[in-house]
Amino acid sequence: MSQATPPPSSLPLGAHVDQEDPIAQAAQRGADLVQIFLGDPQSYKGPVVRFEGGADALKAAAESAGVALYVHAPYPINVASTNNRIRIPGRKLLQQHLTAAAQIGAKGVVVHGGHLGKTDDAAKGFDNWRKCIDGLDMPVPLLIENTAGGDNAMARRLEAIARLWDAIGAVAGGDTVGFCLDTCHAHAGGNDLGTVVEKVRAITGRIDLVHANDSRDTFDSGADRHTNLGAGHIDPGDLADVVRAAGAPVVVETPGGEQAQAADLAWLRERL
Ligand SMILES: [Zn+2]
Repeated sequence: MSQATPPPSSLPLGAHVDQEDPIAQAAQRGADLVQIFLGDPQSYKGPVVRFEGGADALKAAAESAGVALYVHAPYPINVASTNNRIRIPGRKLLQQHLTAAAQIGAKGVVVHGGHLGKTDDAAKGFDNWRKCIDGLDMPVPLLIENTAGGDNAMARRLEAIARLWDAIGAVAGGDTVGFCLDTCHAHAGGNDLGTVVEKVRAITGRIDLVHANDSRDTFDSGADRHTNLGAGHIDPGDLADVVRAAGAPVVVETPGGEQAQAADLAWLRERL
């Protein structure tokens, strides 16, 4: 297999790519890792491995190419919800994704922190997270991602992340839960990028993955609209500083396909 020129930094860099052939997508971008969906990201249907030959073939291809795989769980999952008809299918879907992620040899499954309705008691949501973790079999780490919006979100503001970690830390197996820091979500969610890495790490003790995305929206707007690095409202220096300080593998979840994502990875390599 041909290898792209390794980056001067030692941080593994990659992108969220199409799931049909993520190994080819990694090679096109010179990526060390890729993040994929397993099946339809908007549905409750179970995970599907669309790579030709299935899970075993994808695992083998990733290993031989030296590409690390991460799985992003479907968006409807909200294990904090007080609504049984959202929470229970979401937990099941999350478990199915953890199992499937292990079958493809993935390093982790990223899932959003979720949210409650405006009038719900946030304590219920954190307790629902505790119960979820208590019931999960995690053959690979579960990485909870901070989100941009919502007034009653479980992982938007630092205070909520602290309560979430208190709840999860009380459970056996809670140490298999890690943190995915999204720079667009942090900025749009109202967290100062100058201090967010230090503050998150003080709470969670870890940052396992960074989603490096610029934001089409202003600070604390609550909007979740990613854009290419340097093209949005995040200060370029702050964005690079977050990636450097976090010291974790990086995924760009930016628009524009191969060319634009390759440019985003080059943007990062220049600054790291
Ligand atoms: Zn993200």
